Amino acid sequence: MKCAICRNGNTVAGTITVALDKEETTLVFKNVPAQICDNCGEEYLSSETNKKLLQLANDAVRRGVSLELLKYAA
Ligand SMILES: [Zn+2]
Repeated sequence: MKCAICRNGNTVAGTITVALDKEETTLVFKNVPAQICDNCGEEYLSSETNKKLLQLANDAVRRGVSLELLKYAA
């Protein structure tokens, strides 16, 4: 797809690292599938991936995690 930020680049499929802060919890997800702009580097997550990350974050908050490194698995 065409990048919505720079309007010049095209996005390519890849994986990224996403850091999430929620309340007292910090989570770092490795290996998250995303579309990345080949021009400006903007990262796009699918709504499905977004939802899953938020779900995992909510779980971690409930478990009282303060810092966790997770490998994302689709
Ligand atoms: Zn771009």
